[in-house]
Amino acid sequence: MQKLSDNVYYYRFNEDHDWPNLGYVCGDKHALAIDAGFSSSHAGSFYAALRDEGLRLPDFTVITHWHWDHTLAMGKINGVSIANRKTCSLLRQESIRLKDDRYLSKLKRSYVYIATEFPDGDIPEMIPADISFTGELSIDLGGLEVQILQAESTHTDDSTLVYVPSSGILFIGDAAYANSLSGPLDGKKQKSFIKTVRDLDSRIIVDGHQMPMETEDYLASTCEPIGNAD
Ligand SMILES: [Zn+2]
Repeated sequence: MQKLSDNVYYYRFNEDHDWPNLGYVCGDKHALAIDAGFSSSHAGSFYAALRDEGLRLPDFTVITHWHWDHTLAMGKINGVSIANRKTCSLLRQESIRLKDDRYLSKLKRSYVYIATEFPDGDIPEMIPADISFTGELSIDLGGLEVQILQAESTHTDDSTLVYVPSSGILFIGDAAYANSLSGPLDGKKQKSFIKTVRDLDSRIIVDGHQMPMETEDYLASTCEPIGNAD
């Protein structure tokens, strides 16, 4: 576990498996994770790292968006999962598609990490979240507030951000990335995303597949070139 502040950690991404960063926030009463992980082996490694540090397992797991590498471990988590309604609907659609052998074979060819995380006989299963919300949600973890909010994003239409105001740490999933399935970046959505981030006044951004960065450095490096245009 990498520590970002007294109560905020992340479990580092791993490019060999396409495992994204998993966030972790712990209050006096409850702990909250950001994203469930790719597979049982990913979630298992994350929970083993928490146990090694003497940290409690998450009571809540917030999903940043529906993509496989962030959600396919949702059936393996401790506690309850939380996602926005759009994400829940996309998870339901994908869960039906994954039951089709031809779709799954095609997906394993186009996104090879599905094949390595789920070798033959290990079927990837997607499930909707236990709790769904629209707009914003705030959770008191016991002396520590976490804000959960939907945001426009260039990556998917179902992005959720998780902000810890007391330490200025913002978890965004893949929200700043392009959508690999649908061509170039949408400048309008990118501007809206940047405005949301700046309005929160965050200090540090933790995204899905990079090391955490200071917010302005992140926006300059990851949201170029459209982000700086009028
Ligand atoms: Zn993604």
